[in-house]
Amino acid sequence: MKPYDYLVVGSGLFGAIFAHEAKKAGKTVLVVDKRSHIAGNVYTEDTEGIHVHQYGAHIFHTNNKKVWDYVQQFAEFNRFTNSPVANYKGELYSLPFNMYTFNQMWGVSTPQEAAAKIEEQKADADITEPKNLEEQAISLVGTDIYEKLIKGYTEKQWGRPCDQLPAFIIKRLPVRLTFDNNYFNALYQGIPVGGYTKMVANMLEGIEVRLNTDYLAHKEELDALAEKVVYTGPIDAYFDYRLGALEYRSVRFETETLDQPNFQGNAAVNYTDSETPWTRIIEHKWFEFGKGADGQDLPKTVISREYSSEWEPGDEPYYPVNDQKNSELYAKYKELADAEPNVLFGGRLAEYKYYDMDAVIASALDCCEKELG
Ligand code: FAD
Ligand code: UDP
Repeated sequence: MKPYDYLVVGSGLFGAIFAHEAKKAGKTVLVVDKRSHIAGNVYTEDTEGIHVHQYGAHIFHTNNKKVWDYVQQFAEFNRFTNSPVANYKGELYSLPFNMYTFNQMWGVSTPQEAAAKIEEQKADADITEPKNLEEQAISLVGTDIYEKLIKGYTEKQWGRPCDQLPAFIIKRLPVRLTFDNNYFNALYQGIPVGGYTKMVANMLEGIEVRLNTDYLAHKEELDALAEKVVYTGPIDAYFDYRLGALEYRSVRFETETLDQPNFQGNAAVNYTDSETPWTRIIEHKWFEFGKGADGQDLPKTVISREYSSEWEPGDEPYYPVNDQKNSELYAKYKELADAEPNVLFGGRLAEYKYYDMDAVIASALDCCEKELG
C-alpha cells in the first residue's frame, strides 16, 4: 500500500479540481507543482491591493451551466464584462465589431447603413470564397476595419502576414449590427471576487500541496508515494521529448506599477497598428472596477504590456500550435500516454489543447466522473 491514492502533478484548474473531487470521494491526495505558487496559469498575485493576472488576463466566460454552477462553490463572481478598446494610432474604437465601431469608423448611425458600407467594401474587394484570414476579415467587416483593427494586431499576434494565416482564427470574433460591445457570446461571465488564486486555494482546501517540486525531476520517489498519477504538465516533457518537442506560441509580459489611479480607463486596450510593438495593455484593477478588498478606490495601478513572441524550448508554453505537424506529433505522444499504466493525462499541456477555463473545468469533471465514479 502506498501512502496516497493519487499524486496530482500540477495545481492549475485541472489538477485542483481533480484533487478536490478525489478528496470528496474519500481518496487521499498529494498535489505537487514545480512553481512556487498554486493555480497554474490563472494565478493572480496581490500588488497594491490589485489582483495581477501573472500569466495573462483571464476572464471567465461560459455557456455551460453545469460548469458555472460548479465554480460558484469556490468563488463569488463579479459582473465584469469584457469590452476591449482598440487604439489605432490614437484613434479609439469599440470592440468587438459592433454599431459603435461602425459609427466611429464611418459615421454611420443605423444598422442598414453599416451593413451597406460593409457590403460595398466587400464588393470592391471582390472576394467570393475567403481563402485566408485577410480575405475572411474583409468579407466580414470590410477593408477599413481590416486595415485599422485587424491587420496589424493579427500580424503581431501570429508573427505572419494575414494572407498566410487560416481564415478560422478571425471567425470567433463576433460582428454585430447592434450596440452590444460584450466581447464574448456567453451566458455567464465574470471575475472571481478575491482573485483566481483564492478560488483555487478554496478548491485545494485540506489537501496537501508541495510547491517548488518538479515531478519529472523526482519521478521515482514521487511515484512510490501514490497508486495513481494525474499528470497535467506538458506531455512531451513527460516522455522526455523522445519524439521531439511540441511547439507553442509564447507571450512576454512587461508589468509595472504606476503611481496614478487610472492609466487607460479600461481593462484591455488593443494596439492594432503594426508599429507599436506590444499587442495590448492590460490594466488589472478594472477587472474589479478599480476597488480594493474593502471596496475603497485604489490609489495606484498595475499595467502589463503583452508582446507576442516565437516560442523557444525552455520558454513558458502558452498557446499550442495546432498545425498539422504538431497535431501529428501530439497524436503519437497520445498513443504513448494511453499505454502508460496508472497515469491519467489531463489539462491544456498534457492534452496539447487550447482550453478556455470553462472547458478545462468540464474536462476535469468528466475525468473525475470516469475515474472516481
Ligand atoms: P495550467 O494552469 O497550465 O496548470 C498546469 C500546472 O502544472 C502548472 O501550475 C505547472 O507549473 C504544473 N506543472 C507542469 N509541469 C510540472 C512538473 N513537471 N512538475 C510539477 N508541476 C508541473 N481561459 C479563459 O477561459 N479565459 C481567458 O480569458 C483566458 N485567457 C488566457 C490567456 C493566456 C495568455 C493563456 C495562455 C490562456 C488563457 N486562458 C483563458 C486559458 C486558461 O489559462 C487555461 O484554460 C487553464 O489555465 C488551464 O488549466 P490547466 O490546469 O490545464 O493548466
Ligand atoms: N483580432 C484582431 N484585432 C483585435 C482583436 C482580435 O484582429 O483587436 C483578431 C486576431 O487575429 C486574433 C483573433 O481576432 O487572433 C481572435 O481574437 P481573440 O481575442 O479571440 O484572440 P486571442 O488573443 O484569444 O487568441
